[in-house]
Amino acid sequence: MVIESVGVQEIFDSRGDPTIEVELKVAGSHPFFAKIPSGKSKGKNEAVALSFAEAQNTLKDGFAREIEGFDGETVKELDSFLLAADGTKNKEKLGGNVMLGISIAFARALAHEREEELWEALHREFFPKEDASKKPLIFANLINGGVHADNNLDIQEYMAVVETKGAYSESIQRLISFYERLGFVIEEERDVKRLPVGDEGGYSVNFKNNFAPVEMMEKLIFESELQNEFRIALDAAASSFYKDGNYRFEGSSLSTKQLIERYRAYFESSKLLCSIEDPCDESDFEGFKEMVEIAGGRWIVGDDLTTTDPERIGKYAEEKLITGAIIKANQIGTLTETCEAIRAAQERGVRCIVSHRSGETDDLFLVHIAKACGADGVKIGAPVKERISKYDELMRLYQ
Ligand code: PEP
Ligand code: MG
Repeated sequence: MVIESVGVQEIFDSRGDPTIEVELKVAGSHPFFAKIPSGKSKGKNEAVALSFAEAQNTLKDGFAREIEGFDGETVKELDSFLLAADGTKNKEKLGGNVMLGISIAFARALAHEREEELWEALHREFFPKEDASKKPLIFANLINGGVHADNNLDIQEYMAVVETKGAYSESIQRLISFYERLGFVIEEERDVKRLPVGDEGGYSVNFKNNFAPVEMMEKLIFESELQNEFRIALDAAASSFYKDGNYRFEGSSLSTKQLIERYRAYFESSKLLCSIEDPCDESDFEGFKEMVEIAGGRWIVGDDLTTTDPERIGKYAEEKLITGAIIKANQIGTLTETCEAIRAAQERGVRCIVSHRSGETDDLFLVHIAKACGADGVKIGAPVKERISKYDELMRLYQ
């Protein structure tokens, strides 16, 4: 497969912020594309994302000529070439977003040549022994807080976790109805119409404290008799409320120990809370470790902590700081490293949740990565607007 040219276009993500689309031409075929999402609550170690103008300049300044004529038959070969051409630790030269776009578009070209779907090409190359028919849990963010919303919640995401026992189509229908009912409950309680929503489509309103949304969702799950299929997960995204060694939580300044006591109380008060992502700041290793100790089998998931980096995931899994890892391809910047990060988790019994970003596009690659690796979860936001196409793809790929 010979690359003839690479170009970038400016597009806008679901928040209206600019991001890029990569166009890749290979000999003897039509062009292939990849749209790259962007995050607002980023880990410090994420790959650098170039702006559209920077990406264009990088290509013009010689990289477009360098990649022209690249000839390879695997994603790994292409990514090794990209990594060598970039040569920096955080992908600041070529941009993690540009590299990932090329990587995904090339994988699409390889899949097309073999008359395969993207997930099949990734499964064959990276995960031949994993069960691609395994249905991941759906993590759907229904109430937004933190930097994703304009309200008083410090915790960024309150998610319904849906375990599909039958067809995805039926569970997704129940999820959509649940999301609507949750909206009615909030509207009635507040006597308002038309609730504002946050970046990922979850409701964005004030609550009396950070636990109140869990209580509300839990009550509604039991009332709707969905407790055998639905549970609850949080993404605290705690780096966003960590300052000078303390956590600013519900108007107070808490030490790590005090914050963990709050989470312990959440676990004791909730029957359905099954997972907390980034409960502590990305530098608070002791905090993560203690969370795993008190979690009693519930998942403690790294996101800002792990940034889809195979080495970090491996190290923190071995040190027992995490039992789950968020996988966001644009945090690391190539498909090969994304798949290595998944492998690093799987080899150590750490669950993988393949995730969207708060600034999404209609590109569906995340669902294909999830299927290729037999992921434990997919995190795709509320079942509305731009996120709907990912739910549709989930139904299509697992029918
Ligand atoms: C997250 O923190 O898990 C998330 C999806 O948000 P962002 O894309 O802003 O990092
Ligand atoms: Mg997160």
